[in-house]
Amino acid sequence: MGIAALLSTALTSGAAHAAAPAALKAEAAADVDAQTKNLQVMIDKVFSFAEPGFQEVRTSAYLADILEKNGFTVTRGVAGIPTAFTATWGEGGPLIAMGSDIDGLLGVSQTPGVATIKPMVPSAPGHGEGHNSGLPMMIAAAIAAKQVMIAHKIPGRLMIWPGVAEELLGTKAFYVREGMFKGVDANIFAHVNSGFGTGYGDLGLNGMVSVEYTFHGKTAHAAAMPWDGRSALDGVELMDVAWNFRREHLPLSQRSHYVISNGGGQPNVVPDTASVWYYFRDSNFAAVRNLYETGNQIAQGAAMQTGTTVTRQVLGYAAPNFGNKPIAEAAYANIKAVGMPKWSADDQAFASAIQKANGFKPAPLPTEITPLSTPETRKGGMGASDDIGDVMWTVPTITIGYPSNVPNVIFHHATAAMAMATPIAHKGAVVGAKAAAMTVLDLMTTPKLLADAKDYFQNVQLKTQTYDPVIVASDKPAIHRNETTMAQLRPFMEKFYYDSDKYPTYLDQLGIKYPNLDTGAAK
Ligand SMILES: [Zn+2]
Repeated sequence: MGIAALLSTALTSGAAHAAAPAALKAEAAADVDAQTKNLQVMIDKVFSFAEPGFQEVRTSAYLADILEKNGFTVTRGVAGIPTAFTATWGEGGPLIAMGSDIDGLLGVSQTPGVATIKPMVPSAPGHGEGHNSGLPMMIAAAIAAKQVMIAHKIPGRLMIWPGVAEELLGTKAFYVREGMFKGVDANIFAHVNSGFGTGYGDLGLNGMVSVEYTFHGKTAHAAAMPWDGRSALDGVELMDVAWNFRREHLPLSQRSHYVISNGGGQPNVVPDTASVWYYFRDSNFAAVRNLYETGNQIAQGAAMQTGTTVTRQVLGYAAPNFGNKPIAEAAYANIKAVGMPKWSADDQAFASAIQKANGFKPAPLPTEITPLSTPETRKGGMGASDDIGDVMWTVPTITIGYPSNVPNVIFHHATAAMAMATPIAHKGAVVGAKAAAMTVLDLMTTPKLLADAKDYFQNVQLKTQTYDPVIVASDKPAIHRNETTMAQLRPFMEKFYYDSDKYPTYLDQLGIKYPNLDTGAAK
């Protein structure tokens, strides 16, 4: 959208809200447009790094360096997490935080710009959700907001932060516990989507705890002297059986699932160590705590039955998500003013090829923004979780969904990576960055908006529940997760890192013509 059009939309639609002057917002939007190339490079680079939770070493260093070069003060390794950082800038005024996730997922390596499943490195991690786009988008937004604040001498401070290990629900409860959001007045978060929108109230994302139970037994020759052994795997199996019997008597709202993360070495050795990793989910803090306590009891019972002992480690936690109404309404006005990207026929053709090749319901890239999601318009919960919830119960927060992915792809799956280093991802991040920058300016320049946001947080949100995570002082972030996997796979993945000095885009480096419309049908 041109500045003139943006101005007129903002002027006609913003009347109901306390908002920054439309001219300031138009400047921020123009500044984001000027960063289009940098944004594409950041998105493509992070896609090529494809680092899973806690191992976002290159991603984190690369993005923190960019912020440093742009005048932000970077503190690395915050909250005892090596790949976490904060990047701050500004003086006086409100402190507005801006965050998005940066981690990939195990086993979903995917060649971008290709509509069929085609790993770059077999069994390697990949951006099978699109977390490669979120922080680049926020960085572009922060730089734009900062430029406008400097030009117009607007007091205020920014704090950019990465969601490390979100796919493990691994860090945000620890960020909160370690005081990362102390003094923050409001927080804008962003998550990749196929639509462009935001919402408020209980967003229907479950709370959850991720916990690994490790049983300790006694090893023995499984054939010659089995009576000498106590099988840790027996403990794991009985725990799982008991959990599945108990499931009948749990609230219907719960969702729980597990994997045996260590089942022993080989059958003729009685395993002295075995582990099972559970996710317990439900819609509120108390229900999550109840599931966790039930799991702990069942683990104890299984240990008693098998003559083993059991220990547990909390690997992650996520609070239910709750969006702040005044900020969501302000952001929504900005989303409306910015509008959807202008999709090309090539973008639409590639999106359609992905859907066709993978048997998904056809749906074009949307050309209209998503209606504001409210408690009145929302239908039921979504089952999944996002640890931004912990921040949402600490400071007034919203999540902006920006349109960098294709409708009907499966998250946590190679299909959700296919478009994430193509013009679809790049264009979606440009509009997302504009809306985020404009919302930052609203928060910086209109004390009433901040006051309303705090009032809603205190007097509406905190009246429904109180933040009550199950993590305790002795729980630590699981920073060694994925270390061994990456030690094995990184040498193979490095060959695919994007060299932006040599190639205009990552697709150019990989020799992929856009749009590649091969749906594999002839094979
Ligand atoms: Zn995500």
